[in-house]
Amino acid sequence: MHATADQLRRVTRAILKSGGSAAPEADLVADHLVQANLAGHDSHGVGMIPAYVRHLKAGLVVPNTRAKLVKDDGAVLMFDGGRGYGRSVAGEAMAAGITRCRQTGVVALTLANAHHIGRVGAYGELASAAGLVSLHFVNVADHRGLVAPFRGSDARFSTNPVCIAVPGTERQPPLLLDMATSAIAMGKVRVARNEKKLVPEGILLDTSGHPTRDPNVMYGEPHGAMRPFGGHKGYALAVMTELLAGALSGGPTIQPGNPRLGGTINNMFAVLVDPARLAGVDWLRREIDGFLEYVKASPPADPKAPVLVPGDPERLAREERARTGITVDATTWEDILQSAEKVGLSRAEAEAAVSS
Ligand code: NAD
Repeated sequence: MHATADQLRRVTRAILKSGGSAAPEADLVADHLVQANLAGHDSHGVGMIPAYVRHLKAGLVVPNTRAKLVKDDGAVLMFDGGRGYGRSVAGEAMAAGITRCRQTGVVALTLANAHHIGRVGAYGELASAAGLVSLHFVNVADHRGLVAPFRGSDARFSTNPVCIAVPGTERQPPLLLDMATSAIAMGKVRVARNEKKLVPEGILLDTSGHPTRDPNVMYGEPHGAMRPFGGHKGYALAVMTELLAGALSGGPTIQPGNPRLGGTINNMFAVLVDPARLAGVDWLRREIDGFLEYVKASPPADPKAPVLVPGDPERLAREERARTGITVDATTWEDILQSAEKVGLSRAEAEAAVSS
């Protein structure tokens, strides 16, 4: 299935509205998913719809939920997401954090108990568009583990993404580090399974803890595990991310003493900083321009693959996919149509939303 971003937004919006979301929420979440596809992260795009509908039917995501402010203490803001759609409640928390950061210069922001917040880079982009630097640490709870500890052989925690966003200059677009701390995002294992492909070496362990390239090991019972990225260093970062996000926020870590209802809970710890209150915006811009131009001028080892900086691959994918459209593999598209039916939207209506 090949479609434009607008066509995918229309069908996603229709499914979310049939699932009980008011129009502004359906628009926001639909755009968030399609933006992930545009950025090249199909793992976090419209392919999430079947999981969202499954959680909806089980009451594990609650449409039209607003983020609840649970603590407002100067440069500290704490929110509870109440299992609301992640894009919606995390967007509200970020908006409050950005406003506060303009007064205080720095903000420690937490969000507990949000449903899946999707591509974390979207929240970094909100901060950098406002001229702020931001750091985001996110853990994933409410379901079984997906990632094995370094030196371990079974899954004990999840893909715990980390994001760092820095505003751009007149010469350089904003910088965005946005990554799972697992060797790849779980959604990329799902995409490989749906496309009947093997994943690269070094990413998965089978049910006995031995290396495998078969994505199906993550779907059976008992199930396999992903490895953290970067050996012991990625593992160490994932452990700290679990605690920053799951413990400081008051949301759950994945430890078995907390409930696992089979949904997705994301907790986020974010720090927002106004660079004008530190060395100043002029210095920041001078150093971004000077440093990035120097780094990118390194002669490429492969002439077809020039040096990039964080955020470049997503920008390049966006330019390409805005022009050529987005491909959704047949298994994912069938899953999306079946999910539409589960919320009362017929196949014909879903297909009409795409073709109109
Ligand atoms: P990835 O491996 O594709 O990219 C990681 C980072 O590396 C990006 O910032 C990218 O710009 C940068 N990068 C890639 N190639 C580069 C190059 N050649 N030079 C310089 N920088 C480069 O990302 P991922 O780990 O697969 O994560 C995908 C998405 O999954 C992210 O948006 C993440 O937020 C999301 N995610 C969300 C959750 C959740 O629970 N909500 C969990 C895990 C991941």
